[in-house]
Amino acid sequence: MSKEDNAKKGWRDIPIGGLITESGNAEKYHTGSWRIKRPLWSREKCIQCLFCWAYCPDLAIEVEDGLVIGVDYAHCKGCGICANQCPAQALEMISEDKSDVNDDKAEVDHEKKTE
Ligand code: SF4
Ligand code: SF4
Repeated sequence: MSKEDNAKKGWRDIPIGGLITESGNAEKYHTGSWRIKRPLWSREKCIQCLFCWAYCPDLAIEVEDGLVIGVDYAHCKGCGICANQCPAQALEMISEDKSDVNDDKAEVDHEKKTE
């Protein structure tokens, strides 16, 4: 959900108990804003085992034609599971403070695409 959508909503608009009433709406919520660390993917080190894709709880590993192509930072919450499971050390968790230095290495960055 965009900041503009949130800005339009008051407390009276929120369902009682904060219930989620629509199904399949996870894509609308940019959970990447919660993140304090981000996984930095290395194309060179990656052996394309797809463990990261299988383990990511947010489907934030981008795959095209069966190959990892990057990380969807709009939805990646920075939990680190992908880096923990990667057998090739192709994912490194880095501080968000340093992410601007490394953004050029991220193959897919949806935050940038939607700016
Ligand atoms: S850090 Fe967590 S949410 Fe982000 S890509 Fe890795 S497993 Fe998915
Ligand atoms: S777990 Fe590591 S080696 Fe396997 S596809 Fe993901 S980044 Fe590549």
